[in-house]
Amino acid sequence: MHFENTLTFAQALDAQDPLKNFRKLFHIPKTKTGKEVIYFTGNSLGLQPITAKEAILQELEDWANLGGEAHFEGKNPWFSYHKLLTEPTAKLVGAKPIEVVVMNTLTVNLHLLMVSFYRPTPKRFKILMEGGAFPSDQYAVESQVKMHQLLPEDAIVEIFPREGETYLRTDDITKKINEIGGELALVLFGGVNYYTGQAFDMQAITKAAHEVGAVAGFDLAHAAGNIPLKLHEWNVDFATWCTYKYLNSGAGGTSGVFIHERYAYNSEIPRLAGWWGHDEKERFLMKKGFKHIIGAEGWQISNAQVLPMAVHKEALKIFEDAGMDRLWDKHLKMNAYFYFLIDHFNQSQAKIKVEVITPKYENQNGVPPNGVPPCGCQISLVVQNGGKNLYNFLMESGVSTGWREPEVIRIAPVPLYNTFEEIYQFVELLKAF
Ligand SMILES: *Cc1c(COP(=O)(O)O)cnc(C)c1O
Repeated sequence: MHFENTLTFAQALDAQDPLKNFRKLFHIPKTKTGKEVIYFTGNSLGLQPITAKEAILQELEDWANLGGEAHFEGKNPWFSYHKLLTEPTAKLVGAKPIEVVVMNTLTVNLHLLMVSFYRPTPKRFKILMEGGAFPSDQYAVESQVKMHQLLPEDAIVEIFPREGETYLRTDDITKKINEIGGELALVLFGGVNYYTGQAFDMQAITKAAHEVGAVAGFDLAHAAGNIPLKLHEWNVDFATWCTYKYLNSGAGGTSGVFIHERYAYNSEIPRLAGWWGHDEKERFLMKKGFKHIIGAEGWQISNAQVLPMAVHKEALKIFEDAGMDRLWDKHLKMNAYFYFLIDHFNQSQAKIKVEVITPKYENQNGVPPNGVPPCGCQISLVVQNGGKNLYNFLMESGVSTGWREPEVIRIAPVPLYNTFEEIYQFVELLKAF
């Protein structure tokens, strides 16, 4: 790709962008002086779709006019509201409709999935995780292990990058899996690491886990709506993700779950049950004896969270219209443009050096069609001496980035609503720091 370090070039890239009109579908936050914020924190909380309000109002109106009758008589009957999300969700994560359901929230779903898929025995009881996983995942896993009367220090194995390296090598992960071998019950990894932005080779990890007889589950909080996913084809056992990051469905929003088809009919798998997971035809007979729905829906516990789901429905529509292929093409171009500008920046001055700890594409043509991307939208920057000051300076200058202790500034140019010009302006601001 040919790039130039000028504002007019960045603007030309935006003018040619086939997705340029999607930005208009979102509310862009404003600074105190009324300027549009350069919003690079879509990895943390995605922006609000303009249609979100209307979608919520529709459900409020049905509630006002119909009361409980809206379960069956509403425009979008609440009884089956979650089903409106199934097709677009399946498409987004590369699953069959029977394999996905939207319910609860992310950490809650992690717990529910571990209840079903972490079944330690005296011989096979270990869980392999990425070192320094997101705290909620660490707490969830620790507490699950303790529920089985095991000690976290015996049961949880963390894998860290090699000395002097910032991210994990796939070979080291699969080697570790083989090493733990018959003691390994579960590999629980992120799809994309929240700190470094590294995307993991989920297919290779799953294959290695299966070869030693373990289960492979993924937390896709930073992967869903960010990188292309083929969960069914990769043979992943289970996965879950939140919808308020790249999926733009609002703080505290609902969560998605994937459970591979091979478990769909299995009534032997232990699960925490509730009436919404019960066979729909008999749900209102209020009878004794739980009979699960076939597929991921059989893991539901409670009735659908209609208001957050209304937002999610709108957000998923936008993804369907944009298409993951086009989003991914734009991501590759944005990523390459960012590196082009940051290399110029590092070479042009000696005041600060911006080091990127996120794995890079090997060349600017991105990954081969079936290759594994090294990262998604997020790029994690380390600036020696004064990273936090730079973060504050950016914030005051109308750029929203994410600070993560101890030393990382995370930026996520998101193809749905960010522009090439914003990337250009970001690097210009580094010069002014
Ligand atoms: C954002 C995030 C969470 C948040 O969990 P909630 O239950 O939605 O609050 C958990 N795990 C990871 C890896 C995350 O990135």
